[in-house]
Amino acid sequence: MSTVNLSTITKQFGDVTAVRNLDLLIEEGEFFTFLGPSGCGKTTTLRMIAGFYYPTRGKVKFNDKDMTTVPPEKRNTGMVFQNYALFPHMTVFENVAFGLKVRKVNKTDMRKRVEDVLKKVRLDSFIQRQVSQLSGGQQQRVALARALVIEPDILLLDEPLSNLDARLRDEMRTEILRLQREYGITTIYVTHDQVEALTMSDRIAVFKDGECQQMGTPTDIYNEPVNDFVAEFIGETNLSPVTFKEKQEAEFIFHSEPLESPIRVKDSKQNIAAYDEGDELLISIRPEAIHVSDTALTDQHNVWTGEVSLVQFTGASVHTFIKINEETTIRATGLNQGPSTYFEEGTTVRVHMPEDQIRVIPRARE
Ligand code: ATP
Repeated sequence: MSTVNLSTITKQFGDVTAVRNLDLLIEEGEFFTFLGPSGCGKTTTLRMIAGFYYPTRGKVKFNDKDMTTVPPEKRNTGMVFQNYALFPHMTVFENVAFGLKVRKVNKTDMRKRVEDVLKKVRLDSFIQRQVSQLSGGQQQRVALARALVIEPDILLLDEPLSNLDARLRDEMRTEILRLQREYGITTIYVTHDQVEALTMSDRIAVFKDGECQQMGTPTDIYNEPVNDFVAEFIGETNLSPVTFKEKQEAEFIFHSEPLESPIRVKDSKQNIAAYDEGDELLISIRPEAIHVSDTALTDQHNVWTGEVSLVQFTGASVHTFIKINEETTIRATGLNQGPSTYFEEGTTVRVHMPEDQIRVIPRARE
């Protein structure tokens, strides 16, 4: 097991800066995810950890050992690629044993280690099967077994589930997590799928244009996004531009042009006092934090009247879109509590944004 320490890593390919000034410390045994849209530098970062690329500037350390320019085969990392990179004409045994052969492990030990790891990934009865005769999910398990059998210090997974259908992806998420916990291995996982990131990770780094926007636990990142990019990339949110007006007792007052009214925010864990009056910011509120009602909501702040423009039923929950004016539609999500609780399209409703559920955030840099 190993920690991974990246200090001020930059990677340039000609004119393209794929990763810029990245600092990251991944703890021993941690499940750490790089999350972000296509082209944001996740794979390049993973490849610098694996040794397939060397950084243009900065250092890669495992524990306290400088690995910056150590070649991949001397790093003791296990990697699972998006397309698995298995040898289709070889058997499951031959594929999994490959790394042990390269390391010149003797035949008896090799047999035992391959059998043990195949039991762990529940493929022991397929040991002599050709890889080309396996399903996608089974091939995924072979790729995992091949990475784990060398007893790596660090497991690197590059979008390992993207070729599987939704149900199998769900199953493999649990499977990967089970194996990771069993082996207690430091794991770095690359994905653009927020659900994978939220459900599997101890911590997540959210990337945009080669830079880390935010790093934290799934709950930190979901509940306290640092800017609009993170708020929109992870989960759904309602964003609106506002101008900071003033502080009034325990509340901060913002003016929203699109909502044509003041908005009150309670500073729960945010540092709004650091902003200056007149600052142009954004407010973000999650759809599940919004209350929708068809009765009048008196004596409350942050209440708007609108018309239900769309209702989307997803099974467990119901999304309601409420048009406040030409510019603004608010999205609210509630649990499905039976047909009598859904609104009809066209209904006039009141929308309430609780003061303590609103986050005030700056825009991400372009
Ligand atoms: P994806 O999810 O699509 O794999 P990513 O977040 O992993 O995307 P990277 O593959 O790390 O992104 O790419 C980051 C940027 O670096 C992109 O602009 C990409 O075009 C560029 N890039 C990556 N590898 C190379 C290379 N070998 N040569 C030139 N440019 C590259």
